[in-house]
Formats: sequence, structure tokens, C-alpha cells
Amino acid sequence: MLNADNIRKDFPILSLSVYGKPLVYLDNAATTQKPRSVVDAIANEYYNVNANVHRGVHFLSQKATELHEQARETVRAFIHARSTSEIVFTRGTTESINLVATCFSQACMKEGDEVIISAMEHHSNIVPWQMAAGRMGIQLKVIPINDKGELLMEDYEKLFSPHTRLVSVAHVSNVLGTVNPVKEIISIAHDHGVPVLIDGAQSAPHMPIDVQELDCDFFAFSGHKTYGPTGIGVLYGKEKWLDQLPPYQGGGEMIQHVSFQHTTYNELPYKFEAGTPDYVGSHALAVAIDYLNTLGMDNIHAYERQLTDYAMRQMQQIEGMRFFGTADNKDAVISFLVGDIHHLDLGTLLDRLGIAVRTGHHCAEPLMHRLGIEGTVRASLAFYNTREEIDSLVAAIQRLKQMF
Ligand code: PMP
Repeated sequence: MLNADNIRKDFPILSLSVYGKPLVYLDNAATTQKPRSVVDAIANEYYNVNANVHRGVHFLSQKATELHEQARETVRAFIHARSTSEIVFTRGTTESINLVATCFSQACMKEGDEVIISAMEHHSNIVPWQMAAGRMGIQLKVIPINDKGELLMEDYEKLFSPHTRLVSVAHVSNVLGTVNPVKEIISIAHDHGVPVLIDGAQSAPHMPIDVQELDCDFFAFSGHKTYGPTGIGVLYGKEKWLDQLPPYQGGGEMIQHVSFQHTTYNELPYKFEAGTPDYVGSHALAVAIDYLNTLGMDNIHAYERQLTDYAMRQMQQIEGMRFFGTADNKDAVISFLVGDIHHLDLGTLLDRLGIAVRTGHHCAEPLMHRLGIEGTVRASLAFYNTREEIDSLVAAIQRLKQMF
């Protein structure tokens, strides 16, 4: 079992005090804190390596290119992709989904075609499809959920029609914590000859991912939620799909030859990486992944599951506690309201006690409508959180309740 007290020493920010109180950071679904090794890697690269990648014959450029391409291999191994050709660096989950929504709809869809998403999607997995729908006359179909926040799989099957071209769903909900049965979702879609994109923003940081075992066609995640830096993310795509898609943006890096009449495109994955890539970010993401691998994704998952169960048990004892998301298979995200206290008031007062939680609709307004609420307070956990921090959260909520 992981020892969070030891692990916390690797994350200098966790020793901060805010308003004179020890920081209790429970906003990990928004972004995670960075271990010292990641911050050091960024500084080290700028101090000792920095040069633009791929195009240079000189020492530094070759060294920077080596780190960047090694990072691609580290990401490949992290999600068990078959080849580094299938690992595209992007700015994050949002850009990865936008890339697929734009390029897939252009190459593989026509008016009247359909995309299936779910009722619990983040706006990043709704709006890009709506934009494609607006451009091309595509329809969105939505898998409904039950009151525990689980997908209704029978209804999912009924959504398929001869016009269904893609399914795009979250692996783990950033509001409900529900771990969706993605393997089953993918297998059903494949039975209908339909590819699947998995939004792994909330799964890649918390559990082992094997894209070949899942058999997903696309998988997206963000560096900054995976203990790496901001501004870097990943799109995995099966080679057979990436080959069929047109480039997303034009410019340097993604070309083979350019004349004023015609451009030929680079091989995978560079076809999708126009412009100077965030080579410092990719390397720092690889260092974050190395850190996660040292702890072990299985260990991380087991620890966070136990901590979530503990938190749910302790919070349940608070009178007036209402949880949103009580799926049987639930990860480290806890959304709640207490009595009729407004989520914003509760979040603001918790902040004054040093406890960082998120409030609002969590970029999932359609889900809020389904739940019949405006927003929730969300505590989202990581492997460096402790039972003592959960106890602080519970004590703080109890104390604030007295004030209302
Ligand atoms: N999908 C989910 C499930 C998320 O939780 C988030 C981030 N909150 C995103 C997509 C978007 O991630 P990013 O802002 O890093 O692109």
C-alpha cells in the first residue's frame, strides 16, 4: 500500500499554508500537483538542453529531439499502444477530442450521420461534436443515466442505427466519479462496425490503461491532470484510423514537401503535429509518467479507491449530505450538496479553512440539468491525499453547517 506521508514530500506545494491553515488540496480532477522531479525536468531542459526539435543538426537540437521522442515512447508504454506512430501530442484532452471531431467528421461522415455521446460528458466531449454537427448536419444521440449516475446500457444499444458513425464517451465522469464500462461500450459499438473515442481525462491519472486490451479506436488525456505540466496532452488513435484522417492544422512539422501548388503530408504521428511541439512539456510529462510508474498504477488505483470509500463513509454521517454519483464502480470524485447551502457558499467558506474544492457545474451543464441542480461541491482525490485530510473536510463541513 502507498505511503501518502512519504509521497507528499515529493510535492512541495502540498506543504503550503493558505490563510494560515495547512492546505488541503482536493481539486485534483481540475488539475493535479506536480512532483519535484517534473518541475526540475522543466528547469533542467531550459537550462541545459533547449533547442527546437527535429530540424536541427546541432547537438542541442538532437538532444531535445531525443527527449521528445523518448517521451512519445514513454506515453506509448503507459497506455500500452502498439506503436509510437499512434501517439499524437496535443495541448490536452480538449484539443485531442477537437482533432477527432474535426478530422473524423470531415473524412468519415456526411449529413444525417450520428454520433453517440453520454449524459455525463464534459463540455469538451459535447461542444466539438455540436460544432461538427452544425457544419455537417450530423445528429447527436445521448446515452441516458440512472439516478446513481450509471449509464443505461440497454438504452445505449438501442441508439445505434445504420447512420451511427462514432461513439465518444468518458472513461470516468469528472462529476459523478462513475467508471463507465468502456470495454463493453466498445465491444457493442464494434459489433455495429462503429469506432469509439474514450475521453480518458479522469482515468489515465488514476488507473492502468491498456488501449489494446480496451480495443478503443481513440483515447484522449491531459498532461496536467496526470501530474505533468499544462499545455501538453495526448491523442492515441489506431493507425488505421489516423491514416484515414486529414491533417488537423497546417504548417511546419506536418509536411513532407510543399510547393505553391501542392503539399504532401508527413508520416504518422507528425501529420497531426503542426508547428513547434511542446517538447519541454512532452519530456516533463514523461517524467511524470516515470513517477507514476515507480508508485505503480495498480497501487495508486487501490489506494485512491480505499480513500474514496473512507471519504464517502465519513461524509455520509453529515446530516443533510446529498451525494451525486453513487455508482457501484466509482472513482476518486465526490460531488455533493449539504442541506440547502448553496455550493458556492460552501466552497468559498471551505477555502477560508484551507480546503480547496471546486464548485459549480464542472463543465457539465447538461448533466446538471439531468440531476435537476445548478451545481455541486466537488472533492476530487489523488494518491497524496490522506485520511486526515478527509477528516479535516468533514469537520469543516460540520462546522460550517452550524453557521447556516
Ligand atoms: N474531459 C473530462 C472528463 C475532464 O474532466 C476534462 C477536464 N476537466 C476535460 C475533458 C478537458 O480537459 P482539458 O481541459 O485538460 O483539455
